[in-house]
Amino acid sequence: MDSKVAEFDLIERIRRRIATRSDVLLGIGDDAALLQLPAGMQLVVAMDTLNSGVHFPPETAPADIGWKALAVNLSDLAAMGALPAWCTLSLSLPDANSDFVDGFLDGFLALAEQHDIALVGGDTARGPLSICVTVHGFIEPGTALRRDGACVGDDLWVSGSLGDAAAALSQWRAGGAIDPGLRARLDRPTPRVSLGRALRGIATSCIDISDGLLADLGHVCKASDVGVRVDVDALPASQALRACFDAEAIRRLQATGGDDYELCFSAPVELRSAVIESASTHAPVTRIGRIVSRNGVSALDASGVAWQPGQAGFRHFE
Ligand code: ADP
Ligand code: MG
Repeated sequence: MDSKVAEFDLIERIRRRIATRSDVLLGIGDDAALLQLPAGMQLVVAMDTLNSGVHFPPETAPADIGWKALAVNLSDLAAMGALPAWCTLSLSLPDANSDFVDGFLDGFLALAEQHDIALVGGDTARGPLSICVTVHGFIEPGTALRRDGACVGDDLWVSGSLGDAAAALSQWRAGGAIDPGLRARLDRPTPRVSLGRALRGIATSCIDISDGLLADLGHVCKASDVGVRVDVDALPASQALRACFDAEAIRRLQATGGDDYELCFSAPVELRSAVIESASTHAPVTRIGRIVSRNGVSALDASGVAWQPGQAGFRHFE
């Protein structure tokens, strides 16, 4: 920041607008936050950083950046089956731009309110535009959805639809018009928090899709020591995606595009109706494959022919 005054002014702008919770004994304003964990619960902690030009196009509206910064973190809590409670926010800004901070808070706090998550502290510094959020949630002991519990024979499921965010990004990179429906999915992903909660006791493993379905499933295979067979023709696609791309491009975007923030989970075949019933009030779910004994992630089309993506998943620093 140009001066301490500017930094304090920004922090005060944030403090004035935040909602709090009764378990926040001390929030923004002291050296650290003081928080009351509910009896018998375990703490679930996740952190995600968004850098301008890497995680969002530089011209993204501040409110969308604010929404996304929290959404990608809530998605990690969702993938664990955790109940969101508190978050902290580290803001690195090129200058003490109060318009940016006000807009950022519009999006960030709108999503925070939906999930009753309280902003309890953070840090504000000068540097390239970068936002780092830490989220804290609660989980009943022994009920967390982990990557290492998938069992051979389980069904593989995914929530919502896949490929929209990557489709918007590809339209943006091509320099043409971006479909508004696809753009909304890139800028304002929906963290599947209530679905994650509903899957406790049903799903054997769960992951949120941030780097592309096939790449993220690789993590589940490794952690669970299993393989997975994905039916690429079963992957759910939105109307907007179908309207804008051909069949092969859709498959590639769905299977390898990133930024979906949908939940991909395994569940025993016997619990199919339980999955559908418990998911019904939270998000649509689609069965997309099966957990098998070996060979990592394989993708097959409806006739059982192996399908090879051009490039599997988004990787940083490559
Ligand atoms: P310190 O120098 O002790 O780290 P700071 O001046 O960085 O204190 O922060 C003062 C208070 O404002 C702390 O409670 C801190 O958590 C909070 N804070 C600073 N930046 C942010 C931010 N971007 N969002 C939320 N709270 C913030
Ligand atoms: Mg500080």
